[in-house]
Amino acid sequence: MKPDPERSTATNPMANVHISTHPLVKHKLGILRDVATEPVQFRQLIRELALLMCYEATQDLPLRDAEARTPMGMAKVGRMTTEIGLVPILRSGLGMVDGLWELIPSAEVWHIGLYRDEKTLRPVEYYNKLPVEPRVQVCLILDPMLATGGSAIATVDILKRWGVQRIKFMGLIAAPEGLKALTTAHPDVDVYLAALDERLNEIGYIVPGLGDAGDRQFGTA
Ligand code: URA
Repeated sequence: MKPDPERSTATNPMANVHISTHPLVKHKLGILRDVATEPVQFRQLIRELALLMCYEATQDLPLRDAEARTPMGMAKVGRMTTEIGLVPILRSGLGMVDGLWELIPSAEVWHIGLYRDEKTLRPVEYYNKLPVEPRVQVCLILDPMLATGGSAIATVDILKRWGVQRIKFMGLIAAPEGLKALTTAHPDVDVYLAALDERLNEIGYIVPGLGDAGDRQFGTA
């Protein structure tokens, strides 16, 4: 079968980018963006959006054929066998973990801490407790905001060096600059988003975005 150029990352860097069109995602994202939304509701919405996005980001996971005994007889069923790792980007990715855990309670959560060096503007790793060998086949990197893409790219670099077979990025809002940087550096990574916004401003915030996702979750604005 001839490869579809639209779905090939060699000809279309956006081939692995999935932007949700789900009305519930759009509706909840609208409330999340609102400057009047207080931290308690903001956290709840991040959780719910992560849950909805999880449904989209896991739709291609393989199933093993199995059987279940119902009260009426045997049914052919599918069982998910993939071990999944969640990698929230600190700190705003933390709020997405709960929603995903609700759907995938067996997921392992791995923390990688990065900060931005003021001189080089490059991400520097300050915390990493990954075991020597990966115990998961798929890692979902979580960060509500894909701004410059620096932390996401550095996290993918670390996970690839660790040896994870498949990496997906799940965010809520992306700037075109960050999305381009991530898909150029790692065209094999599937990217799931709720919205693609206009641009980054001069201090690295997404416009119109929602402001600082960490401050708005943790009440530190
Ligand atoms: N991080 C945020 O929290 N908000 C932005 O707009 C960009 C990065």
